[in-house]
Amino acid sequence: MTDRLIDRFCSMVRIDSESGNEAPFIEAMKARLEEELGAECTVDAHGNLVARVAAKGCEGIDPIFLGAHADTVKPGIGIEPVVEDGVVQSKGNTILGADDKAGLAAIVEAVASASRRPTVEIVITRGEEVGLVGAKNLDLSLLTATRGYIVDSDSLNEIVIGGPTHASLDVEIVGKAAHAAFPEGGISAIRVAANAIPRFQEGRLDDETVANVGTIEGGAIRNGVPETVKIKAECRSLTHEKCVTQAEAMKRAFEEAAGDVGATANVDLRYEYVASKVSEDSDTVRLAKDAIAAVGLEPATRVILGGTDALVLSGRGLDAVVLGFGGKGAHSVDEHIAVADLEKATDILRTLLEMSCETG
Ligand SMILES: [Zn+2]
Repeated sequence: MTDRLIDRFCSMVRIDSESGNEAPFIEAMKARLEEELGAECTVDAHGNLVARVAAKGCEGIDPIFLGAHADTVKPGIGIEPVVEDGVVQSKGNTILGADDKAGLAAIVEAVASASRRPTVEIVITRGEEVGLVGAKNLDLSLLTATRGYIVDSDSLNEIVIGGPTHASLDVEIVGKAAHAAFPEGGISAIRVAANAIPRFQEGRLDDETVANVGTIEGGAIRNGVPETVKIKAECRSLTHEKCVTQAEAMKRAFEEAAGDVGATANVDLRYEYVASKVSEDSDTVRLAKDAIAAVGLEPATRVILGGTDALVLSGRGLDAVVLGFGGKGAHSVDEHIAVADLEKATDILRTLLEMSCETG
């Protein structure tokens, strides 16, 4: 199994798929899954791939989906994987792309090698790294499974069962330009921003809520009263209402600080995804725990303050959690994965599919 698994993984990372340019990779996977697994493949209008693989020795059991994302971060062009001392890494000038092709390789190997399995729908999304846009636009009518696993975190024994509501604020403050030597007619947008930001809490608000002003950009010249400032800010909370309250407070702070001096604040507030959590007692989580324990690891669940494809799909009505593939150093040229860890990830998935035939 090892050679085939590593070959599979290396052949995947050799196909470039930086975010926005995933189509060749999706096409290659479609051809491969059709040929190798006899999968029934559909690429949806957004470019995501859904590949349905028929059940084997496990009829009448609810289908399961297994998901991974096609895209990688930069620098991800011309990745050349090197296997040395039981570790796979890139030649050093690019990322490796284990995030998330190790997840995908583990999925495909697990499906191919499971002694029995329910119907499996392999979901390969686009644009995960740039706002989870593939999962947000995934054509759910292509799925028959209502529960599944996204294989896209580092830790092999942990199951990510929930995530936050995440609000993004794009703020434009418009004051009035004037020459610095004749400032009376001007309204400084920079000063409005400076007055607004202390009006709301920032950093860690409580154990499940955070807020951040990430960028501020404005003014044009030293000797001019700055007319515009643009700010990108965000907040997140595992409790939806807390995120909404904080986001509204931030919006109001900019609007009021602007209003105080006759400037205007145009605030674009949007919610990227909504907090949810899959129950510890659900079949989805229990099956994952059993599979992790069966391969000799101590299963653990956690919630994170980041978005995942699983969170987006949970928000769209599916039961989805995140499992690990065992990689390290994602999003850097030091990214690597131990062969033994990739094998373990595959074992977990294979065990999970086989066990699901017993539990239903
Ligand atoms: Zn990822």
